[in-house]
Order: sequence, then structure tokens, then C-alpha cells
Amino acid sequence: MTQKPKTQLFNFPVLLIIVLLLPLLGFFFFATVFEPRFFLFLSFGLLACILYLAMLRNRLIKKQSEIKLWIQNYGEQVNLAEAGIRREKIAIESFREKIINYSQLKGLTERLSMCLTLEDTSKMFSEEVNRMFGDKDTTIILYLFHSKTGTLGISSSQKGQLRVNIKSKKGDAFDQWIVKTMQPLLIEDTKSDYRFDAERILTQEAREIGSLMSVPLMVGEKALGILRIDHPQENHFTTEDLRFLTTVGDLGAVAIENAQLYEHIEQLAIKDGLTGLYLRRYLLERMPEEISRQMRQKTSLAFLMLDLDHFKQYNDKFGHIAGDIVLRTLGMILSDLFKDPGMLVCRYGGEEFSVMLPDCTRQKALALAEEANKRIAEQTIILRRERTRITVSIGIAMFPKDAQNAKELIHKADQALYRAKQEGRNRVCLFS
Ligand code: GH3
Ligand code: MG
Ligand code: MG
Repeated sequence: MTQKPKTQLFNFPVLLIIVLLLPLLGFFFFATVFEPRFFLFLSFGLLACILYLAMLRNRLIKKQSEIKLWIQNYGEQVNLAEAGIRREKIAIESFREKIINYSQLKGLTERLSMCLTLEDTSKMFSEEVNRMFGDKDTTIILYLFHSKTGTLGISSSQKGQLRVNIKSKKGDAFDQWIVKTMQPLLIEDTKSDYRFDAERILTQEAREIGSLMSVPLMVGEKALGILRIDHPQENHFTTEDLRFLTTVGDLGAVAIENAQLYEHIEQLAIKDGLTGLYLRRYLLERMPEEISRQMRQKTSLAFLMLDLDHFKQYNDKFGHIAGDIVLRTLGMILSDLFKDPGMLVCRYGGEEFSVMLPDCTRQKALALAEEANKRIAEQTIILRRERTRITVSIGIAMFPKDAQNAKELIHKADQALYRAKQEGRNRVCLFS
């Protein structure tokens, strides 16, 4: 900060002349009129005065420059202090932002840790991302790789608070770029980004995409999916947003992996490893629920019990591994035939299978069982270059006609199966 020099109240040379001139005039007048010796004495006195005044002037000039320097120093200090305050303000602001971000991440972690299933986790994750980055026009898409096929598929998608239909189900060119590079992507203006043929991409989608950011969801080296956010406006996202989204994506990826592991373990507990069918334990859990529903709706439920005929002989002849192939084949035939929603095929135990058919009449159950019996009998299984066949016996019981609860229903179907065996196997028997 520069200080304006102060205007002096008096001009020193003029003052000096005035101060000297008046006594000088008096002196000359006095000396010439009265005493020439006094003139000499006064001359010395006058010289001494002039020297003293000159010294005073020098001191004053020195003092003035000292004050100027001091003012300059002070100005510099003020400048430095102001710059320091500005820096502190920026630091406080970014610290405040960091605190907000950390508390958002903390909330995200807590909420994700409450979800067990993949569906709940995806939904919660998408909602949380929407809360952090979204407005009514923001579209958030969570893609996950299919665990078996490895293809990309939409796990959840929302615009604002609403679910939204995305046309490119396996991701567009922006998403494919992420799949290829596994790097975060920020596009400030889709129309001017040279990496993508925006016109072609944007015509595929009904919604407008002005800018987007997207991150791969990874746990270690394992890629789980993609988290993508787009907005109709250009320049809606910043590099800072992308950095934060990357952290959010990392947390989400861990939660998704946990949910996938949880579901896998759950499947292991309720599904048979050989055939991929549900186990009896699961059937016994589901059956009472289904029976209650049938009671409420006053509809009937069919229960089929299937048992392979002379399977022991088959095992003895072709070996246990060949027997396993037969069981797996049977599982596939049954899953293919009874695949409507609500139908439940189980490996009841050993070489016994069961099928629960809700909202099913006796006639329909009989027709489906006959069809199963026929398909199984027609299936050839090649073992040791030999074409082999296998047959099943099936017993059917109906709720509420034959039984009043799950346990009784299973028992009645078993009795019908026993009768089918008694009557010569490879056949279907109704309990009544
Ligand atoms: P039936 O027509 O009266 O049912 O005769 P079966 O020989 O099928 O009946 P049994 O109960 O005597 O034999 C069932 C056989 O099923 C015995 C067992 O070795 C075989 N088995 C049970 N579980 C498995 C399995 O997981 N793999 C294989 N390979 N065989 C199995
Ligand atoms: Mg048996
Ligand atoms: Mg058997």
C-alpha cells in the first residue's frame, strides 16, 4: 500500500529567506548607523543560525524518509496479512466442504451396511448418489456385470426421485469406453467431445445428455459395474465432482461385492449344488406361506412328488458319476417345464424331486405331470457310448382337497407316489 506524501505547510527556503532577511535588514541599518564591530559579531551569530537551521532541515528530511519507509513496510505487512486471511478463508471453505463430504460418505457407508441383498444395495446406492449429486433432471444409472455371462446390465436407474427407462440396456458408447479403459470419465459437453460420436449416441436415447460423469466400480482388480450420472445441461459436473464420485463409487463397489457374496452364500444354503434346484429346507419354508395365500384367495395348490425308477440299478450299472449326470439332466427338464412365476421345483432329497404349483387345478397338475413323465422318458442320455433312458414315477396331492397343511400335503403326495411305484412305475398317480 503506497502512502501519499503530505503537502508541506511551509516552504523552507522561503521561510529561511524571510527569517534571515528581516534581521539582516535591521542589522545593516543598525551597523551602518551605529557600530561596525557589532556588525562582525552579528554576522557570526547569523552564520551560526543558518548552520543550525540547515542541520534541522537535514534531520527533518531524514525523519520524513524514515516515516515513508515505515509506512511502506506497514503497507506491505497489511498486504501480507490480507493475503493470509484470503488463504485462510479458502482453506476454511475447503475444510467445510471436506467435512460435508466426509459426513455424506459416513452416511452412505452406514446406510449401505444396512442392506443385505443385491437389490436393496443397488437401490439404496442409487438413491444415495442421487441425494449427493442429483437434481430433478439428473439421471443416475447403475450397471452391473452379470456374474455368469459377464455382460453389462442395468441394476437400477433413476431420474430425480423417479425410476426411468433407459433404452441402451447394455450401455451406450460412453459406458463401453469405461468397460474398455476402466477409468473415470468426465464429459463437460457431449457435443464437443472429440472422443465420441455424440450425434449417433444421443439419437439412441430419448433423454437429452449435455454432460456426464462415470466411474468404474471396482474392488481390487475385480470389475463389478459402472456408476454413471448424466445431465441435460453442459458443464454440469466438475473434476472435483468426479473425484468425489470416484470415492463414492469405491464405497458402493465394496457394498455391492458384499451383497453379491451374501446372495451367493444364501443360494448355497438353499440351492442344491448338483442340480441348481432349491433344497427341501427352502420348500418347507415357502410351502406354509403359499398355503396361507391359497386359503386367502380360495384357490387350489398342487404338489407333485417325483422319484427316479430303479435308480440304484442305474447307478450300479453306469457308476455314481453317470447317476449324477442323470440327476442334473432331470433337474434341467423340470426347470424348463415348470418355469412359470410361482412354480417351485426342488430336489427333495437323493433321487426324489418335488414341484409346487400354486393356483393350479387338479386337471392342469395332472396334464403337467404327464408331460414331465413323457419328456423324461423320451430323454436319451449317452453314457459310455450307450444310449440310456430313465423313467420317473409321480404322485400328486391337492390343497385344500387332499390336505389341510404343508406336512399333510407332502405326505399325501408321497402316498400317491408310492401307489405309482406299486402300480408298475413310469406313471402319474393322483392321491384321490
Ligand atoms: P425305486 O424305483 O423303487 O425308487 O428304486 P430306486 O433304485 O430308485 O430306489 P432306492 O431308494 O433303492 O435307491 C435310490 C438310489 O438313489 C440309491 C442312491 O445310490 C441313489 N442316489 C441318491 N442320491 C444320489 C446322488 O446324489 N447321486 C447319485 N449318483 N445317486 C444317488
Ligand atoms: Mg427314492
Ligand atoms: Mg427311486
